[in-house]
Amino acid sequence: MPGLVERYRDRLPFADDDPVVTLGEGSTPLVHAPTVSERVGAEVYLKIEGANPTGSFKDRGMTCAVSAAVREGAEAVICASTGNTAASAAAYAAKAGLTGAVIVPEGKIATGKLAQALMHGARVIALRGNFDEALRLVRELVDRHPIALVNSVNPFRLEGQKTAAFELLDDLDQLDLLCIPVGNAGNVTAYWKGFREAGASPRLFGFQAEGAAPLVHGRRVENPETVASAIRIGNPARWEEAMAAMTESRGEIRAVSDDEILDAYRLLAAREGVFCEPASASSVAGLLKYGADGAERVACVLTGHGLKDPQTALEQAYAVVPCEPSIAAVERAVLG
Ligand SMILES: *Cc1c(COP(=O)(O)O)cnc(C)c1O
Repeated sequence: MPGLVERYRDRLPFADDDPVVTLGEGSTPLVHAPTVSERVGAEVYLKIEGANPTGSFKDRGMTCAVSAAVREGAEAVICASTGNTAASAAAYAAKAGLTGAVIVPEGKIATGKLAQALMHGARVIALRGNFDEALRLVRELVDRHPIALVNSVNPFRLEGQKTAAFELLDDLDQLDLLCIPVGNAGNVTAYWKGFREAGASPRLFGFQAEGAAPLVHGRRVENPETVASAIRIGNPARWEEAMAAMTESRGEIRAVSDDEILDAYRLLAAREGVFCEPASASSVAGLLKYGADGAERVACVLTGHGLKDPQTALEQAYAVVPCEPSIAAVERAVLG
């Protein structure tokens, strides 16, 4: 598979001879979800963004942001991150031969994401503060130093991420409703941009975690809390754009509880065969909670892979079955 810049270059701000930093991102599977479909009374599909090279949709934006940084002669990239942006930035910086630095909230990022950022050789800075503070500080830092900022405030991130909307329209002849997790609100903004550029206008239902739902309540959340660490954000950088997308698409931003997120997380793994991370499951949790509102064809974006956060998975799953090495014991263990 070509990367997404190659696949969609005519709709992206890259010329034919521009340098492209790619790991073969995009072109992710769209999987029919019979159990979820039956429960909501609509045809529901899952966009498996965990199938991107570093395991989240962030790679779509990162191929563009890092390619643009290389084109501009940058030597270093930096981001604030709840985890996946850090993993992705670190990988693409490694591929490009750039120095990467990532600032994450101390103790608040999933184990897999931390392992990725470290393995790719990024300098990982654990901030004694939350994501919103981390983003404020990196924005200040790049004003003082020649380092490219690759958070979703970088317009190239949205350019890359809008290609997921193109793929949905390529794969489905009808799409009435898109359900999507919302944290910093870059992705929902990017999807809407992609849909509009392609002349489509499905409704957008965005879902935030109850303890981190600034867009639902219309005010910042000082200390956001949720099991869905990727969307633990109290002051979304793309606030206005996301709300405009909601208005234009006749969409809704609503909240789901951690319990509802975890129910959907387990359901997707056990019944649909799809292991996503908790934040991703909020799209399906929201659809199950609020319904499809008459939509016939629905796509839910599953933003990141379940392996990112093995700790939460092990807390939510059944325990392993211990067993002595005899056939009788194995029989009891397997059949019992
Ligand atoms: C980044 C991320 C989100 C939130 O996307 P925003 O663009 O910040 O709204 C949701 N899920 C996962 C897994 C993410 O990594």
